[in-house]
Amino acid sequence: MATDEEPGMSERMLVETRDLVKVYRAGKVEAPALRGVSLEVRAGEFAAIVGPSGSGKTTLLNLIGALDVATQGSVRVFDRDLGALSKRERADLRLHELGFVFQAYNLVPVLTACENVEFVLELRGVGAERRDRALAVLDELGLAEFADRRPNELSGGQQQRVAVARAVASRPRLVLADEPSANLDGENAEALLRMMRMLNQEHEITFLFATHDARVVRHARRVITLDDGRVAGDEVRTPGRAGASDDRIGDW
Ligand code: ADP
Ligand code: MG
Repeated sequence: MATDEEPGMSERMLVETRDLVKVYRAGKVEAPALRGVSLEVRAGEFAAIVGPSGSGKTTLLNLIGALDVATQGSVRVFDRDLGALSKRERADLRLHELGFVFQAYNLVPVLTACENVEFVLELRGVGAERRDRALAVLDELGLAEFADRRPNELSGGQQQRVAVARAVASRPRLVLADEPSANLDGENAEALLRMMRMLNQEHEITFLFATHDARVVRHARRVITLDDGRVAGDEVRTPGRAGASDDRIGDW
């Protein structure tokens, strides 16, 4: 998996939200989930969104990932205003330019690990070489031995690492991960985060992940704290501060 990015890419803005508001409506009941979130994410970042349950982490990721639309404010991703895109254009953006990792892995149960990766490549129009590419990605991520196993023949940690392989197989610039380690034990959470960080460093894939897992937060190079739909903190960590020995996980 070679990176296509040119040097200098690290200063490029990938995500920019301005006064982002999301209000869920159920009948006459309104639930404000985001109350004006402005933030920027640049290429190369490895950033965690933290905050208590209900603070708006999933809502924010869903808006950035073009899975949902804002009530007010704007989201720009790769310099495109998501509010101006059609449903079809948002689907194309998700398919071709973003990678997603969810808490529940979401692998297709009847497909092997390799076929799960191939399937996404097929949707993206990759031709005959997709099997080789899928195998190459699994191999690079240390998952070659699982290529022919179905999800129910893999542990949770293995499934989630396959899900990351699937998310990055088509070399998206940005991967959004919502509580990726929530169902994993400590060792598997560590392995997952090491893999994500390797992809971040070696392939310049930007990661934005929601978590309330202190083990995961330790790996982040930037920690954005949400509280009741607002940004309550935004801390960039200098190298050496974010190592495994760093127990500081913010104020939340
Ligand atoms: P987090 O991921 O930080 O736990 P969420 O973004 O899921 O937070 O939720 C933020 C707020 O929005 C919560 O109060 C939650 O109850 C509410 N919410 C989330 N999704 C919906 C929905 N589909 N309909 C109504 N309310 C929702
Ligand atoms: Mg959530």
